[in-house]
Amino acid sequence: MSLIIDVQQLTKKYGNNTALNNVEFSLEKGAPVALVGPNGAGKTTLFSLLCGYIQPSSGNISVLGHSPGDSALFGRLSALPQDAQLDPRFSIAMQLSFYARLQGMSRKQAKNDTLRVLEMVGLLDAVNSLPSELSHGMRKRATIAQALLGSPEIVMLDEATAGLDPVNAREIRAIVADHASEVNFILSSHDLNELERLCDRVLYLENGKLKQHQTHGNNVNTRYLTLRMKQQYQDIIASISQIPSVEHIDMTQDREYLLTINNEHDVGNVEIELLNMLIKNNWSYTQIINGKTLENQLF
Ligand code: ADP
Repeated sequence: MSLIIDVQQLTKKYGNNTALNNVEFSLEKGAPVALVGPNGAGKTTLFSLLCGYIQPSSGNISVLGHSPGDSALFGRLSALPQDAQLDPRFSIAMQLSFYARLQGMSRKQAKNDTLRVLEMVGLLDAVNSLPSELSHGMRKRATIAQALLGSPEIVMLDEATAGLDPVNAREIRAIVADHASEVNFILSSHDLNELERLCDRVLYLENGKLKQHQTHGNNVNTRYLTLRMKQQYQDIIASISQIPSVEHIDMTQDREYLLTINNEHDVGNVEIELLNMLIKNNWSYTQIINGKTLENQLF
């Protein structure tokens, strides 16, 4: 077991404001890790501390066995800030090659590495484009390519999908999933649902305090079904409770229901019974999820 990050009793105060309060966690090499929490929870502060941009008020951080900011980490960890921008004056290739050269690569190595990372994010066709010639989603992918230059072992992406439409957000998640065996990704998001299928491990921050959670792969839990409806329907709870294997129903939020299934029944059959009931009543649903959503697991 090799720890890539070990954080002990980490506290960060800005004046009287405690942004992180006695945070402790350790991460092993492996699947992407999600750092989630509402705005102001302390995610960016934690990223900045891990990168060594700011110093803790107290506590210890070890990244790949070194203190953040240690020159031994140069090129081994990279971070993409939420507001990362491309320079409008230069082509994508020129900018990425420039950053690769800053890492100490020769001109030829920089060119090859630029092409490698652009291929990783599916942007080889845009190599000679100016940022203004790319869509918002493509520009985001170009900045992720920049974070992948030099093959760092840890890549932290701060709100990488913020402000993107669902299709582009999905593309970013696919890039992470496709390269998770080569790179240890840490992704932050204020949206719990967004990362639940991508990440096995969730660090949930709230008011500077940490709760941790293991999602067990793809969040399959045969004891539960989550049903999301298109709109509110009267009598829906009564109708669901007519299904024999449904033991219990909770309305977890507006138009979302968590069904507890009697273990002796096959969940596949419950889904069919549920669909038949919805069709019979002419009720529209948006999603049936096998298991609890991450939000329902955490709270
Ligand atoms: P998140 O990234 O989860 O939105 P932040 O780490 O940006 O949260 O902020 C955590 C808390 O620390 C917030 O209360 C924020 O106002 C405060 N904070 C962040 N950066 C600074 C700073 N440079 N100076 C003072 N307070 C800050």
